[in-house]
Amino acid sequence: MKDQYQVVVIGGGIVGCSVAYHLTLRGLTDVAVIERAELTAGSTWHAAGGFHAINSDTDVAALQKYTIALYPEIEAESGQSIGLKLSGGLELAGTPERAEWLKSELAWLRSMGTEAYLLTPKEAAEMVPIIDPTGLTGALFDPHEGNLDPNGATHAYAGAAKKRGAEVILHNRVLSLSRLPGGQWRVETEQGAITAEHVVNAAGLWARRVGKMVGVDHPLVPMPHHYLITEAIPEVAAIEGLMPAVTDLEGFTYLQREGDGVLLGLYEQNPRHWQVEGAPWDFGMTLFPEEIDRIMPELSIGFERFPVLQNVGIRRWVNGAFTFTPDGNPLVGPVAGIPNYWAACGCMSGFSQCAGIGLVLANWIIDGDPGLDAFGMDVARFGPYASNDRYLRDTTAQFYARRFVMAYPNEQLPAGRPLKTTPCYDDLAAAGAQFSVNWGLEVPLYFAPTTEFEENDTLGRSNAEPIVAEEVAAVRSAAGAYEIAQYARYEVSGAGAEAWLDHLVASRIPAVGRIRLAPMLGEAGRLMGDLSVTRLAEQRFWLTGSYYLQTWHQRWFQQQLPDGGVTLRNITDDWMGFSLSGPASRAILERLAHDDVSDAAFPFLAVRTMDVGTARAVVGRLSLTGELGYEIVVPTIQHRTLLQQLREAGEASGLRLIGDRAIDSLRLEKAYGIWNAEFTQAYTPGMSGLDRFVAFDKGDFIGRKAALHEREAGAAQRLVLLEVDAADADASADDGIWIGDRRVGFVTSGAYGHHVNKSLALAYVDREVIESADEIEVFVVGNARPARILAEAPYDPKGSKLRG
Ligand SMILES: Cc1cc2nc3c(=O)[nH]c(=O)nc-3n(C[C@H](O)[C@H](O)[C@H](O)COP(=O)(O)OP(=O)(O)OC[C@H]3O[C@@H](n4cnc5c(N)ncnc54)[C@H](O)[C@@H]3O)c2cc1C
Repeated sequence: MKDQYQVVVIGGGIVGCSVAYHLTLRGLTDVAVIERAELTAGSTWHAAGGFHAINSDTDVAALQKYTIALYPEIEAESGQSIGLKLSGGLELAGTPERAEWLKSELAWLRSMGTEAYLLTPKEAAEMVPIIDPTGLTGALFDPHEGNLDPNGATHAYAGAAKKRGAEVILHNRVLSLSRLPGGQWRVETEQGAITAEHVVNAAGLWARRVGKMVGVDHPLVPMPHHYLITEAIPEVAAIEGLMPAVTDLEGFTYLQREGDGVLLGLYEQNPRHWQVEGAPWDFGMTLFPEEIDRIMPELSIGFERFPVLQNVGIRRWVNGAFTFTPDGNPLVGPVAGIPNYWAACGCMSGFSQCAGIGLVLANWIIDGDPGLDAFGMDVARFGPYASNDRYLRDTTAQFYARRFVMAYPNEQLPAGRPLKTTPCYDDLAAAGAQFSVNWGLEVPLYFAPTTEFEENDTLGRSNAEPIVAEEVAAVRSAAGAYEIAQYARYEVSGAGAEAWLDHLVASRIPAVGRIRLAPMLGEAGRLMGDLSVTRLAEQRFWLTGSYYLQTWHQRWFQQQLPDGGVTLRNITDDWMGFSLSGPASRAILERLAHDDVSDAAFPFLAVRTMDVGTARAVVGRLSLTGELGYEIVVPTIQHRTLLQQLREAGEASGLRLIGDRAIDSLRLEKAYGIWNAEFTQAYTPGMSGLDRFVAFDKGDFIGRKAALHEREAGAAQRLVLLEVDAADADASADDGIWIGDRRVGFVTSGAYGHHVNKSLALAYVDREVIESADEIEVFVVGNARPARILAEAPYDPKGSKLRG
């Protein structure tokens, strides 16, 4: 061991070893993996070693595909056998809805370039003869599944990293981390102190403890998990070649071949936690006693689905711990305020994700950028609220128990809720609000007319759609009030505020009293935000962005802030309000405001501080619905009063409370994109159409060079609006767009346009087909639906209502 390294990776599990390998692959070879005990001594040694490419986040799924494709290379480069069995895998459907769902999964897999296919239950049982097909409704075969030897794979990564120059130091616990005056890390270990430029927390079961060494409380917890391995089974021994893995989705179990027997693992509905603060430091390569009573319900279903298990001996039980985060994806990347500390932890699917994590983190450490849209695994996707122990227990237990449970797109899950509510929560609930959750905050989806109303979980349009239609109609004909507590707001002030913002965002900076839509770019020219910049005074601005990006955006802002002259404050929870829009919105505002809000005095994109009812409000003239509208925000303490006064003033004009679902319908009628759908780190100004807000001719700004290059070269894909000949379901994110057997794009969001009576979808489509495409099909819930690219928004394409 040297006393100095460029990067110290704490933890020699599958993730730490992959991070070290990827760093060396990129040429950064002054790397040490420091391991407390032996390689694999955390969760890795007792894993089942199964892998698959499926993930609810498409970018994470692509990284899983990368992970699987890399295994043969790692094996070859290291010379270490990894026991790779690319057997493919079956997913079994146990209900008619699940069979439908498998159709949409098939369409999604094909969009990802995977040659999966559907089977009948009988065909599935022919493929894996120990399946009893009774009660099954269908199956899907995915060739990108399999399993390997966890120990071999970890040693292969470590060996390949060593060949490229990394060191692996065993039996050496990292005891503490502290900052040296020069900014490097002092890494205190059992074998002595090391100076490191960067430290990576790949400490698996101990990662929460290691995070706390630098003052970070990562939202992850260990949970025990069971599988069993049987003695030889004649029917399995008789299978020549590989046996596909099997996931019985309605049965909560997974099964893979293990020698001539099988391994059966299960995700029980009654999971438990272990050592929420992290494993004890002296925890060995230890298993817990099996808890048969607790897992009996799922085990019994497994024994029915695979009846041979009833007559075969169990060779070994494994009940070991691994870590979960609230959404089941890992925590990767830098943490705001702690330069050169990197998370690579919270990984529950190490053998599907290790290379993806390694690739992203190596890019980030070396280039300062993950190189792709890694938000789905970014440590900054959670806020401090997520590390609360009770929240963590509730959400991770929900995730664990629902691992194989079918998720409906309109389903609302209860764990950890309500966590954050606005002062209007009770009033909105009394008005019928059905809530969704955004970064812990309860946000209205729509307002049900009766307390008895219950939305059905469905893959298609739900019974709430007529209510959404009424909310849309109210906005188009009268007015709607939409709570905008879920906008993040940052105040930027100080002598250097304008100059800093001018460099930060790609648009021009507005004049005092004006608002401007401002794309924010990374150095590589990809989007970092679709902010609006509001200029309240010469050197006082508000930046408005997405609520759930607060940690992510603040990390970025902090990286860019100069040493002095600019003060940035997150005022999100201090100011809230309503977006009032519709043809009657001016009349309603006039009843509450003393200022002249006529078009001449208060034009589109103006902002002013004025009295609205009894509040001193900041009012901006803009809307997301395509109608005349105003965003009215007040100090949070007056938010509830504002609602009451708006409702009183709006009653005579037909004002209606509206929620997110109506906003989706209204914005699609105007082809307006939003962050997390049309705008993400995966896209650029040229692709998304946000280039119309980019001031290429102003001075330098972050990402200008790349944006100019894109303007010259042209973007390969562009955002378009589609009208879909949908039946009883609208398109949704990631639905593939095809011309014949060629995939030409994918949907970013879809909704029914209730005013224009069209099923609409925003989508990225290959540039070369946009002009000529006439045979386009979109796969909606797995069914091909004809679609057309619309040349302009179907509602008020010239924007006269908005400016009215
Ligand atoms: C029963 C079971 C079955 C599983 N099956 C699968 C499966 O089929 N497929 C799949 O993809 N995943 C599976 N998993 C999950 C998988 O095991 C994990 O995702 C993976 O092992 C996580 O790897 P890691 O490197 O992040 O963490 P770990 O394996 O926990 O590694 C962390 C390492 O850090 C070291 N360390 C911690 N603190 C320090 C310190 N202070 N100083 C030095 N070293 C330190 C530890 O000793 C340990 O070796 C399963 C897990 C269990 C429990």
